Amino acid sequence: MDHVTPARRSWLMSRVKSRNTGPELRVRKVAHALGYRFTLHSPSLPGKPDLAFPRLRSVIFVHGCFWHRHRSCSKASMPNSRPEFWATKFEKNVERDNRVRAELRRRGWRVCVVWECETKKPAVLRSKVHRFLSRAESGATASSGAIASRSKSACGNTKANYKRQPRRKKIVSKIKR
Ligand SMILES: [Zn+2]
Repeated sequence: MDHVTPARRSWLMSRVKSRNTGPELRVRKVAHALGYRFTLHSPSLPGKPDLAFPRLRSVIFVHGCFWHRHRSCSKASMPNSRPEFWATKFEKNVERDNRVRAELRRRGWRVCVVWECETKKPAVLRSKVHRFLSRAESGATASSGAIASRSKSACGNTKANYKRQPRRKKIVSKIKR
């Protein structure tokens, strides 16, 4: 029996698609090959991280370069039409990402962002994921007091990796979360 309306099904399908994308699958594959176990889109964590490693108190987000504005990346171009619309949209995305990362760190989680374009370079991807998780591994076995000191820039990602959008319409970002 199927109680799902066509509209809802289409919505569900779109969710599934965006969540199990090629880049995300490539990251999962690498983490798995390195011998790590993880959960997917954990609803109990801010931002439902793509991969969460509870034992290591670490998460990985796999971000599309366009939507999440990968800095200095050719994929993060600005569309020619309706620049205002896109600028607002992008700004909201980047702000949400920043908020989510800050909240996770506040709760003592280490955060790594893997960009879509990085997933297309197997060696780069592997070394980034490996570096992040092995550092988490050594941190996890150290004293718990180390949490604060290793919270920031856990995998070489800083705010500087994000394209900030010009703050022309500050009001707009407050309308909706
Ligand atoms: Zn990129």
